[in-house]
Amino acid sequence: MQTKYIVIFGSLLSGLGKGGITSSLLKILDFYDYRAVPVKFDGYLNYDCGTMNPYRHGEVFVLDDKSEVDMDFGMYERFSGINMKGIQSITGGKLFSKVIAKERRGDYLGEDVQIIPHLTNEIISNIEGIAEAEGPDVVVVEVGGTVGDIENSYFIEAMRQLSLRNEVVFINLTYIPKIDVVGEQKTKPAQIGLRLLMQLGIMPNFIICRTSTPLLEKTKEKIALHSSTKKERIVDDSDMGSVYELPLHFISQGFDRMLMADLKFDGRPINKEKVQKWKSLVDRIRSADKEVSIAIVGKYMDLKDSYVSVREALVHSAAANNANLKINWVESEELEDGSVKRRLADADGVLVPGGFGERGIEGMIAAIKFARENGVPYLGLCLGMQLMVIEYARNVCGMDGANSSEFSDDSAYKVIDIMDSQKWIDAKGGTMRLGAWDAAIREGTMAHAAYGRLSASERHRHRYEFNSTYREILEEKGLVVSGTTAGGNVVEIVEWKSHFGIGTQAHPELKSRLESPAPLFMAFVRAALGSRQEKH
Ligand code: GLN
Repeated sequence: MQTKYIVIFGSLLSGLGKGGITSSLLKILDFYDYRAVPVKFDGYLNYDCGTMNPYRHGEVFVLDDKSEVDMDFGMYERFSGINMKGIQSITGGKLFSKVIAKERRGDYLGEDVQIIPHLTNEIISNIEGIAEAEGPDVVVVEVGGTVGDIENSYFIEAMRQLSLRNEVVFINLTYIPKIDVVGEQKTKPAQIGLRLLMQLGIMPNFIICRTSTPLLEKTKEKIALHSSTKKERIVDDSDMGSVYELPLHFISQGFDRMLMADLKFDGRPINKEKVQKWKSLVDRIRSADKEVSIAIVGKYMDLKDSYVSVREALVHSAAANNANLKINWVESEELEDGSVKRRLADADGVLVPGGFGERGIEGMIAAIKFARENGVPYLGLCLGMQLMVIEYARNVCGMDGANSSEFSDDSAYKVIDIMDSQKWIDAKGGTMRLGAWDAAIREGTMAHAAYGRLSASERHRHRYEFNSTYREILEEKGLVVSGTTAGGNVVEIVEWKSHFGIGTQAHPELKSRLESPAPLFMAFVRAALGSRQEKH
């Protein structure tokens, strides 16, 4: 069967949740036992998002194959359970550099190289190339940015051209504001957004409306009238308790059946078992019988999207443990005034996520010390593991001023140091230790109990690591080394003996899915629930 396409455009403003819609469509296609592969286009001229500030752009997501991609890929994986590949991320930077490289090679000899057709052809052949290589039933293309942006205009044109020779379903995500005083849902912005899309030669098959409250019938009628689209094709995307509910919410509107018909599929019925399995997990997110409170102590707190995978991994593990999750977001710099005890008093577990640079480090170390000394379960991710080692060196091993060479050049004890392989690297793009790496797990440790295996593959993104010079003394003083690099002996996972405390150089949050939570998060949430029971 020839691959079909769904293309999603957003109108009016960013942040409407295109990623959630794309992910929900992947899930719906899976409910019908069709194989779908997502592709995301981002208009920026960065080659990838590895060099972007998470504070502005949100988390940098890392794939098994070392690609640093937009955080929407995390959502695709959390919904679909499929490992994505770097080729599915198409950026302005990648496209332009490819076209220019081709021009230099002489591929377009004698021609004026132009946006249309050279760049647009490049896009089409990229997307059809993915369809050919992966052989899915459907490629779902999420177009980043907003219709009307200069950055994605050529991409939208390429999608129009794609529809001339393929089966393509277009979806427009738009926004319906509600003016508080009257409480009326206003459709004028959506109409204007639609007009922009139609001017580009694209008539959407469906219009999904993001609203704060359920879409009213008369709002649907109005949009239908102005867009020459049938009323039942105006889909409600009103605020939901959890984004994981969205595929079920779409199904309840019959959107799935219309979509299958538009894709000219053969009337195959939905796989009820798959839907039921998903539904029961989604129900657990909201209606659990107990609560677990986790303090995340980090430094990018004003933009929670910086930690989206960490938050979701906790959601998955809490649901699997039948607990309602309460996250206390703690700005680490604010702990530097000695308020740790007060601020973390309610935490059943403390988590320090990944991060870069010196700001806020001492606050995180204070939080780790508090957790270690007070029997509070702890999970340290990447930077959170490095700081767990530093805290132990300073406060248990008497290495005053122990530090990472990332933060201090003149510490006498650089217990965390730049990796050998990083020492001579100057370029910043795509040069960290990236992607999936195997770790060897030590038998009988908490890490072993969590993974249930003696090896684990997790994703990485860092330049610094545990300095082996100090391994012996730290182990002598009780820090347990529970994981090392497979086939090497660089320390990857450490833990406390006293109670649950694990630090991993990896980012296990990047592989957590609603249907298969990350093992270390599962163990952490379980330990947090245990400590809560003891307290109450
Ligand atoms: N900044 C640290 C390093 O580069 C930790 C990185 C991270 O937390 N992702 O090693």
